[in-house]
Amino acid sequence: MTDSLRCYRCRESSPRSAGARCACGEALWFDVDADDFDPGGHADRSGIGRYLDLLPVDDLRGLASAAGGTPLIRTDRLDDFAGCRTWVKDEGEHPTGSFKDRGSAVGVADALARGCSAVGTVSHGNMAMSVAAHAAAVDLDCAVLVPADIPSERLAIIDQYGPEILRIDGDYGRLYEESLRVGNDLGIEFLNSDVPLRVAGQKTTTLELVDAFRPSAPDAVVMPISSGGHASGAWKALRDLRDCGALPSTPKLCFVQAAACDPVATAFRNGSETVSPATGGETIAYSIANADPPSGTRALAAARATDGAVVSVDDDEIRDAKARLARDAGLCVETASATTLAGTRRLVAEGVLAPDDRVALVATGSGFKESTVTGGERATAVPLADLDATLAARFGYWGDES
Ligand SMILES: *Cc1c(COP(=O)(O)O)cnc(C)c1O
Ligand SMILES: [Zn+2]
Repeated sequence: MTDSLRCYRCRESSPRSAGARCACGEALWFDVDADDFDPGGHADRSGIGRYLDLLPVDDLRGLASAAGGTPLIRTDRLDDFAGCRTWVKDEGEHPTGSFKDRGSAVGVADALARGCSAVGTVSHGNMAMSVAAHAAAVDLDCAVLVPADIPSERLAIIDQYGPEILRIDGDYGRLYEESLRVGNDLGIEFLNSDVPLRVAGQKTTTLELVDAFRPSAPDAVVMPISSGGHASGAWKALRDLRDCGALPSTPKLCFVQAAACDPVATAFRNGSETVSPATGGETIAYSIANADPPSGTRALAAARATDGAVVSVDDDEIRDAKARLARDAGLCVETASATTLAGTRRLVAEGVLAPDDRVALVATGSGFKESTVTGGERATAVPLADLDATLAARFGYWGDES
């Protein structure tokens, strides 16, 4: 375990008190001491606890021990559509239904260990639910800052964990940095989307993926991105494993955005070094509509450094992919997560991925929380008296043979 932060870009080290950003403006992440890492050393622990040597906390108990350890499913029925060999990492299996529990578990454990009076976050979705749940489980106060126009069904899910919810009227984009500043003054640990603690926890998605494919590694990992926090974690995981001599080969990191709001994909296409804010439009993949991603430039660097790519897909492609995941793999994923399948199809078409590549799609969140699911028109009304006749007409397989 180490307590110092480093900038991926200028390699400067900073003390924890420096906050989330390097003097150069880029996001910081935790250093790890690769010599401390014992692969398989914590096999007795559950979930992300197996990677404790690579995390900035010493202990993960209670709900935190339920983060990570999500299933990896070989989804051969999706291969034709995707154009390559596919596996889905089902992050929807988490206590609050998304990978955000990985980062919240580490962030809340750290806040507890350091004696912070409260934790907080700026989110109107999965991260808010996750931070509120993890805070509730250890009896820490929790402040959730949401936009004034948050949909009521998401507000209700957040509210059940009992946090203090503040509907902020004003420029929601500015809240990210403002909350970190106020939190620092008041002793509230704000676990926003790309802060070093969250990125440390969220690198475990990729640590688990690489472990699941041993003795080789997947050829590519495909994930949706918004702030770039999860993507940064994926890159950090590969770097940590490489530094420990435990990375069999480097998977391509491929990131997917919704076409209506795709600043990172735009920068990738244009060959830019940095990500500029987009004029964000509406998309059904609301969890990843971030016009000014705080770790966008780091995610861009991650894709380039691993020979990966950043692509965008439109809402029709996302809808189609979501339906395929349900009908051909039995998986109900969030619209944001369905971008991985649509994106993989595109990456194969563009030649970034090859047909015999083994590709891990990270289904970042469960679709069971979404009220935007449509369908059901095909259901037929049947009077009980007609049940036999109706089933016989549709499923009378034995009858066929007589
Ligand atoms: C938060 C979230 C993302 C994006 O993660 P970032 O770390 O912000 O890039 C993708 N999918 C789902 C379901 C999420 O909740
Ligand atoms: Zn720097």
